[in-house]
Amino acid sequence: MALVVQKYGGSSVADASCIKRVAQRIVATKKAGNDVVVIVSAMGDTTDELLDLAKQVSPLPPGRELDMLLTSGERISMALLAMAIANLGHEARSFTGSQAGVITDSTHGRARIIDVTPGRIQEALDLGQIAIVAGFQGVSQDTKDITTLGRGGSDTTAVAVAAALEADVCEIYTDVDGIFTADPRIVPTARQIPRLSFEETLEMAACGAKILHLRCVEYARKYRLPIHVRSSFSTKEGTWVFTDPKTEGTEMEQPIISGVAHDRSEAKITVVGVPDKIGEAAAIFNTLADAEINIDMIVQNVSAAATGRTDISFTLPTNDAQTALTALKKIQSKVVFDSLLFDDRIGKVSLIGAGMRSHPGVTAKFFGALADAGVNIEMISTSEIRISVVVDEDDVDAAVNAAHRAFDLDADEVEAVVYGGTGR
Ligand code: ASP
Ligand code: MG
Repeated sequence: MALVVQKYGGSSVADASCIKRVAQRIVATKKAGNDVVVIVSAMGDTTDELLDLAKQVSPLPPGRELDMLLTSGERISMALLAMAIANLGHEARSFTGSQAGVITDSTHGRARIIDVTPGRIQEALDLGQIAIVAGFQGVSQDTKDITTLGRGGSDTTAVAVAAALEADVCEIYTDVDGIFTADPRIVPTARQIPRLSFEETLEMAACGAKILHLRCVEYARKYRLPIHVRSSFSTKEGTWVFTDPKTEGTEMEQPIISGVAHDRSEAKITVVGVPDKIGEAAAIFNTLADAEINIDMIVQNVSAAATGRTDISFTLPTNDAQTALTALKKIQSKVVFDSLLFDDRIGKVSLIGAGMRSHPGVTAKFFGALADAGVNIEMISTSEIRISVVVDEDDVDAAVNAAHRAFDLDADEVEAVVYGGTGR
């Protein structure tokens, strides 16, 4: 008998008939002799709709109240799912994040899980019940207020609960068959990836592939918990995310490039005319750190000999740009830079693959493909297993397709089926 944790995303529980279908799938897993714990997201676009509603009553809703509101979405789906299971003659109990023992810090809107104490889930399992847990939420250790983990956070709930229960596998059910070599909406010939290492999946998640929440992958890697990403609309085998086969010592040959990710959610700020002196960059980035802004790529030019000044550009989430600009303006008199430039019409395209560690020429081929497609590169950053470039927003699709083709990732026929979801 195995302990299986299953997570169903919003599109898998979008309406009553979807919920009944998911209930059947859960009962089948239980009947096959497994203990089953289920994590659910809110139905369909509920979270977005609740956010829209909040904005209608207040331009800047207090974090505590926003979390109260948003967590109601998952309470609806968990209760309905438990009812649908009961209707099939099986016992199910639904639990809020707080009841399930998901303890977080007190940062509303993007709380971090500190601990999971799943006593009540374990009790339900011991009684032969199916446990249903509301995803994306917890309770603050200090304030005892309800918190949310950030958009897409149900994946993280699933992995955290699975790790705490020492589950055998965490299945993430979504509206596509697994993780693809690129977003099938941009590259119709994208291929499904059968196996992916945690490292590659982390880079993909960080680079805008929307398939898994970044922190969920970090968590799974830490606890070496295998994740199976698959569709709730088909019974096909999905994508398995494991510990890097290389570090496990198997002989598996890794593909050079596993996939191409893209991200349109970032903006670029350029600090123009920064004096080329010790401590100036530190002053700028300290200011941004104090404003709790996560910087992604950074480029500093060589200073112009005549002026002794240089430009520093960096990218950050577009949502944080206003805060960053305000914070930087406050230190303009101290750092005495000339001006600030802001550009939110950018996109990031990233090539990811563990095999690039041992294969020279990947960068040359990538840049060549972009040049042939007429795409200009604005910024570059790399890790051991990733190359990212910033390009004009209008060039993102062309760049993703060019890279996908250059590294022979195209499938012979169209493989990707998007079964549900509104893409919102
Ligand atoms: N319902 C939340 C969201 O839409 C959490 C999740 O779906 O993972 O972000
Ligand atoms: Mg969602």
